[in-house]
Amino acid sequence: MKKYQEMTKAELLQEKQQLEAEYKKIKEIGLQLNMARGKPSSEQLDLSMDLLNVLTKDDILKAEDGTDCRNYGIMDGIEEAKELMAEVVGCKKENVIVYGNSSLNIMYDQVARAEIFGICGNTPWSKLDKVKFLCPVPGYDRHFKITQTFGIEMINIPMTSEGPDMDLVEKYVNNDERVKGIWCVPKYSNPQGVVYSDETVRRFANLKPAAKDFRIFWDNAYAVHHLYEDNQAEILNILDECAKAGNPDMVYQFCSTSKVTFPGAGIAALSSSEENLKDIKSKLTVQTIGHDKINQLRHVKYFKNIDGIKAHMKKQADIIRPKFEMLIDMLNEEIKPLGIGNWVDPVGGYFVCFESLEGCAKEIIGKCKEAGVTMTGAGAPFPYGKDEKDSTIRIAPTYPSMDELKKATEVFITCTKLVSVNKCLEKTESKV
Ligand code: PMP
Repeated sequence: MKKYQEMTKAELLQEKQQLEAEYKKIKEIGLQLNMARGKPSSEQLDLSMDLLNVLTKDDILKAEDGTDCRNYGIMDGIEEAKELMAEVVGCKKENVIVYGNSSLNIMYDQVARAEIFGICGNTPWSKLDKVKFLCPVPGYDRHFKITQTFGIEMINIPMTSEGPDMDLVEKYVNNDERVKGIWCVPKYSNPQGVVYSDETVRRFANLKPAAKDFRIFWDNAYAVHHLYEDNQAEILNILDECAKAGNPDMVYQFCSTSKVTFPGAGIAALSSSEENLKDIKSKLTVQTIGHDKINQLRHVKYFKNIDGIKAHMKKQADIIRPKFEMLIDMLNEEIKPLGIGNWVDPVGGYFVCFESLEGCAKEIIGKCKEAGVTMTGAGAPFPYGKDEKDSTIRIAPTYPSMDELKKATEVFITCTKLVSVNKCLEKTESKV
């Protein structure tokens, strides 16, 4: 197979004609498929159904320390849930607060509190002329939406295969006191599946921020979400590394069981230094009397410990791995030889990040939509929804069934070829 960029105009025109016919046929089928959001399939959700039967009356009455979990109290989470969530991210349970059902909600609260009250006695961000956040790109759209909502200026930091470009991160953080935070997904990043190297984590821990209230927002959402038994990423523990570097208060770490058990009905946690926890609890105590301890207890009884979570995640991986592999195989077969797309095969997380030819992503996604396949919106993985190269497409293969995913990928491939062939034709025409 010849690459599109190497084809003559006549060859491209012939290819275009064929693809247009194919696209017309696909449209006529009237598909309705979705590869937009990183949601577990119902088969994955079925894995956790016993969570709902795990508590006996006696269990609910008493947590480890004798607390009646049916009642008010224990604002920062029951001890055994702290221990479980500490094991997920590899920190001490003394550094953990267990919240309700959503880590995104905790992140929003951290930014909101920094804006309204300030962090650890520092000036509230809302009283400052300008506040900036660093945003590794491509990244998670909902992170960027939080900072955008509070009017925080977002600065793009390119991702490398080892994490964010640390030369740039150091330049901004160490020299500009208006830079107050950075969004990080350190393991199996959303959407590229990048795992931060040890050097990257150490460079984060050794930052010398110009702002006393600079914080790393370390969203360890995919800490246990490996696709393979024999290829599991581990990252350095950011809390330990920050403490070692003399920066114990520089990081807030987030995690949840959203893509372990039930999204929206799991448990979420924050881990940080003693000083930060004190600061957070002083406001949290006004906000709530306590989160859902019955659900916390349920998760502990169900998993028992990290080994229980690991065994459960292996079952999750067995369901989603074939989907990732089928998608990657199809792309390897149909797209790679034509030179019209790049991606890195992920070994964990929830996404495949597809890089089309420049200037094609929006049109590919539009064409998919017209043919009944919904993809994540173009530009979504960038602050303000602006993908300067118009080339990044986030593919979420977990939700559809294998059969649906196959059909959706076929549509995606045809649309990618069609838009790319047109782009290459434009180029040959502009050369004449
Ligand atoms: N962080 C990242 C990186 C995510 O991909 C997601 C879910 N898509 C979340 C957070 C949301 O987590 P939660 O359900 O705990 O709010």
